Amino acid sequence: MAVSSPRPRAGIRRADFHSHSFLTDGDTSPTEMWNEAVALGHRALALTDHLSLDDPKPLLDRLHREAAAWDGTRFLPLVGVELTKLPARRIADVARASRRAGAEIVIVHGETIVENVPAGTNHATVECGEIDVLAHPGILAARDAELAKANSVALEISARRGHSLCNGRVVRLALEAGADLVVDSDAHAADELITLETARRIARGAGVPEKELERVLVETPSRVIRKARQH
Ligand SMILES: [Zn+2]
Ligand SMILES: [Zn+2]
Repeated sequence: MAVSSPRPRAGIRRADFHSHSFLTDGDTSPTEMWNEAVALGHRALALTDHLSLDDPKPLLDRLHREAAAWDGTRFLPLVGVELTKLPARRIADVARASRRAGAEIVIVHGETIVENVPAGTNHATVECGEIDVLAHPGILAARDAELAKANSVALEISARRGHSLCNGRVVRLALEAGADLVVDSDAHAADELITLETARRIARGAGVPEKELERVLVETPSRVIRKARQH
């Protein structure tokens, strides 16, 4: 007899908190990314173009103008930034400046093993109460997974080539600490967005046990969306 495993409820829709448009290093417009997310049946997609120490307002204003096209629909285009390679000590104040400038989602480009990211980025991110997601945190430290739990920062399982090499470690430490996890595409083109089914396979492949899949694919995304809508 086949062993049945708990699966997320039927009718759930995917939320993705990490993607890029041609406003930074992506290939297409925000509108094209959001159109594709609608076509894939997503509930929400955050455009999180890269930001370092420059003024976040022009980027966020442009994203908000394009996002307005979905007002009154079942799709939620989230407007955000990915704080990228700024000195770790500046993360908290740039995150607050981004909120003031209209960011609904603030994520941080974590210490991936495939690029040089300033040391201390992961720690500064999970210490700061302003961040929604620590993206591709690479060689995450156990104490930082515990801080992520304490400060409700979701840790990212990445679908992106290269960044995904450390997914197994991130999942193990997040589970040990009780920290939240999300599966993000980090898409830089519309065809890099992933379906809910692909996200489920990536989570499983990274070591998320069956009983935790609903938390990763449904409950944590819902919490992040509720917080985003307060901004
Ligand atoms: Zn990144
Ligand atoms: Zn990214």
